[in-house]
Amino acid sequence: MTDCIFCKIANGEFNTPFVYETDDLVAFKDINPKADTHILVVPKKHFDSLKELDDEVLLGKLLSGVKQTAKKLGLDSYKTVINTGKEAGQEVFHLHIHILSGNIKGV
Ligand code: 5GP
Ligand code: ZN
Repeated sequence: MTDCIFCKIANGEFNTPFVYETDDLVAFKDINPKADTHILVVPKKHFDSLKELDDEVLLGKLLSGVKQTAKKLGLDSYKTVINTGKEAGQEVFHLHIHILSGNIKGV
């Protein structure tokens, strides 16, 4: 999507440093961290939310991306969050998985 901030980040348009990347996803720091470590795992392909994702293989790859990102960062204990829909607190309508670790303030 042309007007989507996470599409632009995933395309490298802002030179955002990726803490982890595969052919299907990128992981980068949240701009407004709610924990000592707060990372977003984002598919390169646009989906508004989890509701729109019907590719189970990609779903598995995203969770694997969470694991690999946490491993790379040496996180022993972490929380994963997916907000789906406005009332659930979703603000960016490009599917993303939060990884939070250390002094978690809540998402
Ligand atoms: P949501 O509430 O949609 O689950 O989470 C969106 C998250 O994206 C928020 O934690 C917010 O801080 C983060 N965010 C919003 N815009 C940007 C941005 O331009 N860059 C980065 N790195 N994070 C962003
Ligand atoms: Zn997008």
